[in-house]
Amino acid sequence: MLEHSRFARESLNRVLCLLMTTKSALALLSGGLDSTLAILVAREAGASVKGITFTTPFYGAGPAQAAAEDIGLDLVVCDIFDEFLPILRNPSHGYGKNLNPCLDCHTLMVKKALEMLVECSCDYIITGEVLGERPMSQNRNSLDLVSSRSGAKNLLLRPLSAKLLPPTLPETEGWIDRELLWNISGRSRKIQLELAEKFGLSEFQTPAGGCLLTDPNFTRRLRRFLADPDLSRRTIELIKIGRHFFIEGFHVVISRNETENAILESMAENGDATLFLDDLPSPFTLVLKGIAAPDQVLEKAGALTLRYSKYRLQKNLPLKIGERRIIISEAASEHSFTRI
Ligand code: SF4
Repeated sequence: MLEHSRFARESLNRVLCLLMTTKSALALLSGGLDSTLAILVAREAGASVKGITFTTPFYGAGPAQAAAEDIGLDLVVCDIFDEFLPILRNPSHGYGKNLNPCLDCHTLMVKKALEMLVECSCDYIITGEVLGERPMSQNRNSLDLVSSRSGAKNLLLRPLSAKLLPPTLPETEGWIDRELLWNISGRSRKIQLELAEKFGLSEFQTPAGGCLLTDPNFTRRLRRFLADPDLSRRTIELIKIGRHFFIEGFHVVISRNETENAILESMAENGDATLFLDDLPSPFTLVLKGIAAPDQVLEKAGALTLRYSKYRLQKNLPLKIGERRIIISEAASEHSFTRI
C-alpha cells in the first residue's frame, strides 16, 4: 500500500515537472501552405503551438484566421503598419519583383514575434520558411540573416527545413523532437503537397497570394505615393479602389461601380470635396482636401465624373459639389488627364 502511494506520488511529480518544463512555440502564420504545415509538423514533433499573424493595409488577417480555425490554433493578430512603413520606403535588402521587401518584412515579423514571446507565454518561434524555395528571401544567407537581424538567433526554428539547418535551442534542449522535423528544400512543392494530403488540408493560399505588394497594378499606383511623408492608411485603402488622377496637385478618386460609390462616400473626411451628378445615376468622386481647391480644379474633376457616367455624351448636366450645384458643360476627353 505504502509502495503504491509512493509510486503514485512520483508519477504525479514527474507529470508536474514535465508540465512545468513544457515549452511553447509562437508560430508565424500567414495562412499559406508552408506556415500551416510548419505548425502541424511541429505539433507532430511534440510542440505546443500558438499562432501569430501580422497585418498592414497590404495584407490582412483573413487567410491566417481561416487556417487557424481549420487546424484548431489559438491566433493573435498584431498590426505592424507603423513599423513596416519606413521599411517599405527604404528596405535594407531591396524589393522582390514588385514592391515587396520580403527579407526585411520577414525580419520585422520575427523581431515582433520575439518581442511578444513573454506576452504570449511562449518560448521560441516557428516559421514556415523553406530553404531555397524563394531565390532571394529564402536562401541560406537570407535565413541566417533573418535569424540574426531579428535577434531571435537559435530561438527561431524552421520545422520544414530544420534538418538542413544547424540545430536550434528547442531541438538541442529536447523541447521538440528534431528527428520528426523535415529536410525540405527547393522550389518544388511536392513534399508540401504530400504533407497537406497527410494532414487533410484541402484549401490553402498560394505563397504571397494575399500580399498586395506583389500585385503589379496596385504597386504601380503605390509608387506614386510612397515618398509622400503624409502617406496614411486612408490613402492606401483608397488606392485599392477607383480611378485616380492628379489635377493641379489635387488627388482625385472616381468610383468604378456602386460598391465603390458607397466605400468612397464612407471614406470622405472633413476638408474633402465630394462630387456626383445631381439626381442621376453617377460615379462618386472624392477630391482629397478639395475644399481648398480652386474652382477650375473642381470643374475638371466634375468633367471627369461626367466622363465616367453613362451620360458622357450629353452636355450641360447638373453636378453637386458638396451642397453646391453647378452645370458641367461637357465630359472630359479621354486623354485630357493622366490616370495613375
Ligand atoms: S510577400 Fe508581402 S507579406 Fe510576404 S514577406 Fe513579402 S512583403 Fe511580407
